[in-house]
Amino acid sequence: MAEEKFHFQSEASELLRMMIHSVYSNRDIFLRELISNASDALDKRRIEGLFNSELADFTPEIRIVRDREARTLTVSDNGIGMTREEIVQYLGTIARSGTREFLEAGRSDDAGEKLIGQFGVGFYSVFMVSERVSLVSRKLGTNDAFRFDSDGEGTYTLADAERGECGTTITLHLRPAGEDGKDYTDEWTIRDIIKKYSDFIAWPIVLNVSKRQDGRETFEDQTINSQKAIWCRPEAEVSEEEYREFYRHLTHDWKEPLSRVALNAEGSVSFRGLLFIPSEAPFDLFMNPKAGGIELYVKRVFIMNDCHDLIPEYMRFMRGVVDSEDLSLNISREILQDNPIIRVIRRSTQRKVFAHLRKLLETDRTAYEKFWTAFGRVLKEGIVQDREHAPAILELSLFRSTAQEGWTTLSAYRERMKPEQEGILCLAGRDIDALRASPKLERLIEKGLEVLLMTDPVDEVILAEGQEFESVKLVDVAGDSAPAGTEAERKLEEEKLKKLEPAFEPLKKRTLDLLGNVLEDVRPSLRMISSPACLLDSINGMSFQMEQLMRAMGQEVRQQKRVLELNVEHPLVLRLMKMAEDEDARLEDFLAVLYDQALILEGGTIADPASFVQRLSALMALALQ
Ligand code: ADP
Ligand code: MG
Repeated sequence: MAEEKFHFQSEASELLRMMIHSVYSNRDIFLRELISNASDALDKRRIEGLFNSELADFTPEIRIVRDREARTLTVSDNGIGMTREEIVQYLGTIARSGTREFLEAGRSDDAGEKLIGQFGVGFYSVFMVSERVSLVSRKLGTNDAFRFDSDGEGTYTLADAERGECGTTITLHLRPAGEDGKDYTDEWTIRDIIKKYSDFIAWPIVLNVSKRQDGRETFEDQTINSQKAIWCRPEAEVSEEEYREFYRHLTHDWKEPLSRVALNAEGSVSFRGLLFIPSEAPFDLFMNPKAGGIELYVKRVFIMNDCHDLIPEYMRFMRGVVDSEDLSLNISREILQDNPIIRVIRRSTQRKVFAHLRKLLETDRTAYEKFWTAFGRVLKEGIVQDREHAPAILELSLFRSTAQEGWTTLSAYRERMKPEQEGILCLAGRDIDALRASPKLERLIEKGLEVLLMTDPVDEVILAEGQEFESVKLVDVAGDSAPAGTEAERKLEEEKLKKLEPAFEPLKKRTLDLLGNVLEDVRPSLRMISSPACLLDSINGMSFQMEQLMRAMGQEVRQQKRVLELNVEHPLVLRLMKMAEDEDARLEDFLAVLYDQALILEGGTIADPASFVQRLSALMALALQ
């Protein structure tokens, strides 16, 4: 087959330019990227070997050859290799999906960095140091090899090639040595980079090192990396930089991890491990409950990545490795779930993570708040998923509050609670600003009560379930009767409302006649001060937030009927009551606008904006007369 020429996807070319010229300030890391890919390829080949013993017989190796005269550096592996299609897919299409959106979304200084972190475009870093790159690959189990050539300027060529065994060879035609005098054909330069970034790689990295013999230079192969699993080394011996590099290798995350948890259990089941909390949430964490990033090793040998059974779903933000002596090397994904050893590891890991988070909350509030901002939403899912640990998660949960800026814990709230208060007052809704401005809070705030403001989808479920924290109930203040104030205060309010009922009746009837299709009930209320009206969820139906959420996810939901509460101490409402009694025809416009306003405050959308505007204009004209 003749050589064929291809264009990188358009967004890919832009990305290439951005990367080569600006993003990677540290050029050395091209080598770490290539070694990391080679290591992955060897892992994959070894796993194939577990299921087919014919493939198991090979000596895994990453080989680096320097050629000073030709100014080339060659990195090869005898890993799984790539087919022609895979070369096109993986190297011809940078960053698969989402690149364009990302490029358009943020052109901030670190947009490129984030992109690399999120999508892993490691291979392209070779163009920082190379004028031209040539890759030859042969996939395990095939006889055909292919050659990819590119100068990183928007096109690449593909052609047939020869390769003796499966694996991949990448030849870098290096740019002239940099201004810093750095020469990537120099032995010590390469040694240093490997030591610094790739020492823990489990496969041997072999370099042709120089030997002087009778005044002549000869070469000899030498394994450069120690291949020691980082989680098996005592923490005191491992430098922060090594941990960072390991995290990078593991996650492809550009940012430093927020925190680290070492696992070391001995007993009926013994295992070691190293987990990290990333500093930012990956883009798909919330949508994808199956996202998960724990690698499973058995006796230091990589078995699989994204092993979901090692950690509960609500801790899926953790990244890292778990390594056990007690599992069999050919354990498969299917049997993991029912494996008693895995269950023990999971429980113990979960316990360790809880303990770590508690400690972080106590000792480093800033870091903890960062953690919570990124992953609190996910952890909170556990409150409804895992009864046993709900108390532990509530203890770790942070909330926004009407009493202060920033986050508060439930135990801090409890300490501030008024003695007469029956529960922890909460209000759930769409966003924090809407909540702070909610009419439902007016009376409570006047009484000096503190309300927690909750904006995550799972919060509603937590409230609906009537969760308790240390025997104090979480109470939804948007519920039928919020326990606000003292016993005596409440008695007084009830009596007041009772007395008003007859005078309120005509207004209630007119409102239901007009808005009966969207309202289940209309009630007199004292929970507001300056606002005339608010909307509440009916206890019979789905909540407003839930309804919005389902719609947003494209589900058909019947419009849920709500309850309209009218502030019977508000002059407007008092006038409306009078108008209803007098059977005033203008009442309809007022009621319709009042309802729409309440809807807007909830973050809802008005069913008929045209008629809303018309009615409002009519009322404004009326006011000016
Ligand atoms: P990432 O490693 O984050 O996926 P890269 O740009 O480093 O991104 O590599 C893209 C893909 O190309 C890899 O996921 C892998 O499928 C393939 N690849 C790269 N190098 C090799 C290699 N040496 N052997 C086999 N496949 C490779
Ligand atoms: Mg890579």
